[in-house]
Amino acid sequence: MQNRTDHGPKPAAGDARGSDRQAHDATPALDVRAVFESAPDAYLLLAPDPPRFTMLAANEARLRATGTHRDEIIGRALFEAFPDNPSDPGATGVRNLRASLQEVLRTKKPHRMALQKYDIRTSTGEFEERYWEPLNSPVLDEHGNVLYIIHRVEDVTDQLRADQRLKALESVAEETGRQLTRETNARRSVESILSQLRESEERYRLLVDMIPQNIWTTDAEGRHTYFSRRWYDFTNATPETSHGEGWIQFIHPDDRERTEVRWKHSLETGDPYEIEYRFRGADGEYHWFLGKAMPLRDRAGKIIEWFGTATDISERKRLDQEREQLLARERQARADADLRREALERVTESRARLIRGFSHDVKNPLGAADGYAALLEEGIGGDLSDPQRKSVQRIRRSIQQSLRLIHDLLELARAEAGQIELTVQRVDTAALAREVAEDFRGQINAAGLELEVRAPDALPVESDATRVRQILSNLVSNAVKYTRHGRVTVDASHGADEGAPRPGAWVAICVMDTGPGIPPEKRETIFQEFTRLDPNAPHGAGVGLAISRRIACLLGGDVTVESEVGRGSTFTLWLPAISAQQQ
Ligand code: ADP
Repeated sequence: MQNRTDHGPKPAAGDARGSDRQAHDATPALDVRAVFESAPDAYLLLAPDPPRFTMLAANEARLRATGTHRDEIIGRALFEAFPDNPSDPGATGVRNLRASLQEVLRTKKPHRMALQKYDIRTSTGEFEERYWEPLNSPVLDEHGNVLYIIHRVEDVTDQLRADQRLKALESVAEETGRQLTRETNARRSVESILSQLRESEERYRLLVDMIPQNIWTTDAEGRHTYFSRRWYDFTNATPETSHGEGWIQFIHPDDRERTEVRWKHSLETGDPYEIEYRFRGADGEYHWFLGKAMPLRDRAGKIIEWFGTATDISERKRLDQEREQLLARERQARADADLRREALERVTESRARLIRGFSHDVKNPLGAADGYAALLEEGIGGDLSDPQRKSVQRIRRSIQQSLRLIHDLLELARAEAGQIELTVQRVDTAALAREVAEDFRGQINAAGLELEVRAPDALPVESDATRVRQILSNLVSNAVKYTRHGRVTVDASHGADEGAPRPGAWVAICVMDTGPGIPPEKRETIFQEFTRLDPNAPHGAGVGLAISRRIACLLGGDVTVESEVGRGSTFTLWLPAISAQQQ
């Protein structure tokens, strides 16, 4: 553009000058050359001198479009400078352009050429494929003679390429369309499947309505979206009053807060929901239900829905309550028994303490009193007259009787508290029975009774000899005490099963008498302490049998009685026999 003044087309400028001059007068700044140079279309000014068509001027756009310099083309014949592409044998550019220019000269009218392929030689000498849409217009003088031909070309290569792309796009669009059709068909079949699903959903709902549970669903936020028919049958509610948060109003007021807390927890964590709560039925009564729900998740694990059930558990609850009441009663009974046992233990213990304290406080002074009475009897304070001696002897008998009683009480207290120390070793009960019987022989004979002892050579047991002797002495002593006529028999043997405290092997030592016998209803009470059949009887406090039975039990055995009123009694001490291995 910088050189435009040097190469301007003088005839054109001169020709334009007449009209431009007037314009120049009015608007002096108009520069026709500048306008020509800068026009966006490519212009080439040709002389009407066929067949040369000399190039008189070219604007910048034209030079740019053809990649040429003004020096190379101005003044040259058009087809010399722009020949056909020699490597394109089918090139028609030159022929068509010449024909068009001839047409303009003949008709003196503009001629628009069809789309031209007219390749351009680039700076490297290569031809580049280009497409053009040329327009050739005549410039006439006032007589209608052609002064110049303006050859305007539009490079439509890009446009053409754009068109080609568009075509390609269109074909792609067509293909896409066909695909869309296929997709539409696919969608139609999906829809038909869905409608089948909807039908099966209807069936499914029907099934759900028949399940003996309330079935419900909620959205991810826990708002109820569906209840099966049972819910509506039970509550007499409507979807409007049940959906969303409406269902809560049917929960027992005492269960509401607990339910909401639990439900919120599941919604927040996705933990399965499980709760027992009461719902108000249409009858106004509350029924217990077991509520359960599980979250349904999408592929990404996001909860999309909750699926829940509510099962009527009234019957189970009623049974639970009954069982609970029963258990409570049992617990109460056990607690009562414990209390009674504890009270008994306390009484026993305090009685044992009382007896121990009593015996200590009384036994020692009594022992001392007996000691002093003995000294008197021996004459330490001077000789005693006969009446004095008799009195001292009575005093001593009374003291000794009291001491025995105290001793027995102490034994009883110890036995009750399980505080009797046992020294268990092998004891020959046959020998022991003979010894005890012999101890009493004098007394028995003095009472005018006979004594009979029946025992094998040996009858060993594992036991405490002192305690066995104590029990046997007690039984023989009673037999002598309560028998007026007849005999006392001591019989030691392997016990028969009959009458034994428990099944097993026993040694039985029987003390039989021919005394008054014991009425059936008294046969157990005589083993209770302080029980005497004849309260006026001179001897005994009624504790001997009680102590004997307690000690026998501590030895693993028992003392039992058989009796016939008017004929006599048999007291038996049972001791566990030594087993075959032990012998
Ligand atoms: P005690 O003989 O000191 O009274 P026991 O406990 O030894 O106390 O006996 C309790 C009671 O049983 C006696 O008071 C007596 O009534 C009765 N009894 C005990 N042994 C016989 C027996 N062999 N024959 C009849 N009654 C007996």
